[in-house]
Amino acid sequence: MTFDLSKVDIKFLPGVGPKRAELLKAEAGLSSFQDLLYYFPYKYVDRSRLYCIKEIDGSMPYIQIRGRILSFETVGEGRRRRLVAHFTDGTGVIDLVWFQAIKYVIKRYSPNEEYVVFGKPSEYGGRVNIAHPEIDKANEVNTSGLGLQPNYNTTEKMKRSAITSAAIQHMVANVLARTDGALPETLTPGIVAAHDLLPLDAAIRNIHFPSSPEMLRKAQFRLKFEELFYVQLQLLRYTKERSRKFRGFVFSRIGRHFNDFYSQCLPFELTGAQKRVLKEIRRDVGSGRQMNRLLQGDVGSGKTLVALMSMLMALDNSYQACIMAPTEILAGQHFDTISSMVAPIGINVALLTGSVKGKRREAVLRGLEDGTVDILVGTHAVLEDTVTFHSLGMVVIDEQHRFGVAQRARMWRKNYNPPHVLVMTATPIPRTLAMTLYGDLDVSVIDELPPGRKPVRTIHLYDTKRDALYRSVRQQLEEGRQVYFVYPLISESEKIDLKNLEAGYEQVRNAFPDYQVCKVHGQMKPGEKDEQMRRFVSRECAIMVATTVIEVGVNVPNASVMVIENAERFGLSQLHQLRGRVGRGADQSFCILVTKFNLSEDTRRRIQIMVDTNDGFEIAEADLAIRGPGDLEGLRQSGMAFDLKIANLARDGQILQLARDAARSVVDGDPDCNAPANALLWREVERRRRDTLDWSSIS
Ligand code: ADP
Ligand code: MG
Repeated sequence: MTFDLSKVDIKFLPGVGPKRAELLKAEAGLSSFQDLLYYFPYKYVDRSRLYCIKEIDGSMPYIQIRGRILSFETVGEGRRRRLVAHFTDGTGVIDLVWFQAIKYVIKRYSPNEEYVVFGKPSEYGGRVNIAHPEIDKANEVNTSGLGLQPNYNTTEKMKRSAITSAAIQHMVANVLARTDGALPETLTPGIVAAHDLLPLDAAIRNIHFPSSPEMLRKAQFRLKFEELFYVQLQLLRYTKERSRKFRGFVFSRIGRHFNDFYSQCLPFELTGAQKRVLKEIRRDVGSGRQMNRLLQGDVGSGKTLVALMSMLMALDNSYQACIMAPTEILAGQHFDTISSMVAPIGINVALLTGSVKGKRREAVLRGLEDGTVDILVGTHAVLEDTVTFHSLGMVVIDEQHRFGVAQRARMWRKNYNPPHVLVMTATPIPRTLAMTLYGDLDVSVIDELPPGRKPVRTIHLYDTKRDALYRSVRQQLEEGRQVYFVYPLISESEKIDLKNLEAGYEQVRNAFPDYQVCKVHGQMKPGEKDEQMRRFVSRECAIMVATTVIEVGVNVPNASVMVIENAERFGLSQLHQLRGRVGRGADQSFCILVTKFNLSEDTRRRIQIMVDTNDGFEIAEADLAIRGPGDLEGLRQSGMAFDLKIANLARDGQILQLARDAARSVVDGDPDCNAPANALLWREVERRRRDTLDWSSIS
């Protein structure tokens, strides 16, 4: 008998019952037999191998030792308070360390018992220790030739109810024993054969209980492929559906606005990359399909101009256009740039942000409705339902990573057909991530900077070298250049951050008493912030002290030095964004990363990457590799983050490409997504999409 395992409640598994079932659901999201089979081990241990304590060093991966606890000791105070168990196997002594659950550990483990301890050795203060190890009674661990043992994630709460990794292993074995016959295949025979995949049944059995390292590898490949394939199939089908459902406005003309701008207003020659991207956009908007295009281009690559010229295409076809930016400062800057650029050709540009109120706001809204406003520049404020257009044909969203899918979709409803959408980002996204996050978008890349730019030189300095830092800054100031000092947001507490910034401000003022210093941070009123920015832009101030509010968009070509204080506290993409604030003029610019002396290995690598390269894509790849996709900025806000159980976008790029190609050929060969031969695939897409995002709700 085969039955649908996703419909069988986990509480029916022997030894589980309603209480533990509730816990499994709350703590690990497991509610059915199927969920359990897809609860993959996070690692495997060769439990047949025991190490001697004397051979252990801090660089080893997870290892296993067997011995006794000599004594417990609590050391340290406050947050550093920890429990140390001195543990011996006769060949040496090693410290086992806990920072949490101290009372529980003392109660639970006794010096009279022999244990098998499992964990990752590391070095601290010259001694090797194992923090938060897994501990089992030696007589309960079977080490006789079992080979690879699965290890499952469990929480403290689960452990307290005796749902340990070993208990989950039993449950999984139990489910597998109760499935008569093979688990039903989730991919078509054609796909399984084409990619030489293990059948699902063999893959699931081997992912939990590998019969050999080779079979484990094959099982992992099969399950990663399946996972990525369904994400891609879902995205591609969604894109197909969308293009069937919506017609795009056809911009058939390139007319007066575009041509006049090109001949009269353009202060420089477009770069080759800008021209190429404009052609891609032109092709989209003339095609009758609604454009959904992602424009990636490093900071300073000239995306604003591409945005503006795309909007002019809309104007030439009697539509309005809108550009949305994530902050008031940035929206204001776009407004200034765009209105001054198009001033000679008589285009009406309006600004709408949260601080445009009263009569001014009413005038803007009226102009949008009666069509006298051609281009609207704004923040999230333009999403509001009170903002209605006469005929919106093109939307540009700047710094897409700050907006979510849902917000993009809201703009679609501002006309009877959705307008063309161009989203722009200067935070380059590794290709693998873009394929998953923005898999429904076409991608254009500006991979060329305007001519005459000198790459920013990046220097790493320890904060003990502050004198040298100030000397070089002074040199730049004396040459008439301007300088940024940026401080990180250190804590969740606004007060502490502000204190940190204020201290920095005083320090800078004392070091440069003969120069004007201005200051910008997130807790300022918009008016105050704008005033400070204005003083810097107008060169009234030579130095700006700021938090990361200046990260996005600020454009002051005369600024040549970016000093980033506590650079160790910033992520790579943030450092890269900040660095992009300088190097906008023709002169040599500098980015100085100031850190403390003691840095972790990861931080040292991060800083080194910044020193080594200016290439945003290279930096994004490195960021993904160091931090893993879960942490990447913007991923959580993007709303499209798929919960990947086994695939890792940092490491599985090749499998992703295979899965993408396979999904693409399914959709190409079955455009209506209903061929009987693919019935299995479409059913599976439906089943999986219930767990992720409800796509229909955003279209
Ligand atoms: P970003 O891609 O970071 O948004 P911007 O659009 O702000 O970049 O452009 C950065 C600067 O480069 C602006 O001062 C802009 O006027 C200038 N710029 C844009 N395109 C060109 C070009 N083709 N040649 C010279 N300068 C350009
Ligand atoms: Mg920009």
